[in-house]
Amino acid sequence: MRAAVLTGYGRPLEPADLPEPAPGPGQVAVDIRACGVCGSDLFLQEGGFGSTLPIVPGHEAAGVVSEVGPGVESVEVGCPAALYYIDHCGECGPCRAGRVNICLRVRRMGVEFDGGFAERVVLPARCVIPVHEDDDPAAVAVLTDAVATPYHALVRIARARAGETVVVMGVGGTGSNAVQLAAYLGCRVIAVSRSDANLELAVRMGADAVVRGGDDAVAGITEAAGPGGPDVIIQTVGSAAVYRQAFEAAGIGCRVAAVGAALDTFPVNPMGLIWREATLAGSRGYTPEDIREVVALHRKGAITTEHLVQHPRPLDQVNEALDDLREGAVTRSVITFGKGW
Ligand SMILES: [Zn+2]
Ligand SMILES: [Zn+2]
Repeated sequence: MRAAVLTGYGRPLEPADLPEPAPGPGQVAVDIRACGVCGSDLFLQEGGFGSTLPIVPGHEAAGVVSEVGPGVESVEVGCPAALYYIDHCGECGPCRAGRVNICLRVRRMGVEFDGGFAERVVLPARCVIPVHEDDDPAAVAVLTDAVATPYHALVRIARARAGETVVVMGVGGTGSNAVQLAAYLGCRVIAVSRSDANLELAVRMGADAVVRGGDDAVAGITEAAGPGGPDVIIQTVGSAAVYRQAFEAAGIGCRVAAVGAALDTFPVNPMGLIWREATLAGSRGYTPEDIREVVALHRKGAITTEHLVQHPRPLDQVNEALDDLREGAVTRSVITFGKGW
C-alpha cells in the first residue's frame, strides 16, 4: 500500500510502498478515505512527541472497514467510520470514568502506531465509530479532531452554557470551530486573532465581537466582555505569552481551558485565581462520545466543515499540505483518497 513515512525529525515525509497491515485479534483494518493534516502533525515532524521512527503520521481520519480480526463483532466489513485515534485500555481509572482520552495506557494512531497518511490502517475495533453513508468522508475526518477538540474543551472541560460570554483565543483549525460551537450553544462569542482573514472567518463562524490579538488584546477582551469579564476562555494558541493574556483576561468565575500546545511557562498569581474563583484547566483531545456528538451536529446542519475541507490533496502531496499549514496558507488541509466511501 502507498504511505507517507517520517524517517527523520525535521525532514519531509517520504513516499513508501508498505506491506498491507492485517488485523489481529480485536482489531480491524480500515481503508482510509480522508485524513486531515493538523498542527500536531507539524509538532510530530519536529520531534515534539518523541515518536519512535519511522512512523506514518495522520490521526484525524475516516474510512471504510475492510477486514475484521478474530473476535470482532462490534463492526462489519463495509462500514463507513470515523476513527478515534486514541487507543485506550478500557480498564484503568480514567477509562472506567469514561475519560478514555486520558487513559493511563494511551497509544495514539499516527504518533505511537502507524496512522492515516496511508491507504490502510489497523487499529482496535473499539476505536471505530460507525457513521452514515451520506456523511462526507473529508468532513468526518476533520470532525474527529478539528471540531471534537474544541467541543471537548467547551462542553466537557469549561462547561459553557447558553448566555455566557466565551472568548476564543486564536481562530485557526481549532479556534474557528470553538467559535462556531460556542455560537451554536447560545453563548456570546468574542474571537481574538492577529489575522484580518481569521477575524473575518470568526465573524462568519458566528462571533459577536472580534478583538485584535497582540499587546492590547487583554484590554480589548475586557472592554468587549463588559462587567465581570468573560465566563469562559478557550485558549488555542501554542504560545505562553497568549496563555498569560488569557489568564489576565479571565473574568469572575471564569473557566480557562488550555488547548494550544506550548512548552514554555507563564506566571499565575494565586490571588488572581482565588479572587476571581477562576479555573485554569487542561483539555486533552476528546472522547469517542465527543466525535459522535459533533458528527450528529454536522449531520443536522448545526455546524459546518466547509472552511476545513477546501484544500483536498492526494497522498503524494502531503508535504505540500504540511507546508501550507506551516505557512498559515490554509486553516486545514485534508488528504483524500478518491471521492466518497
Ligand atoms: Zn490533530
Ligand atoms: Zn485506560
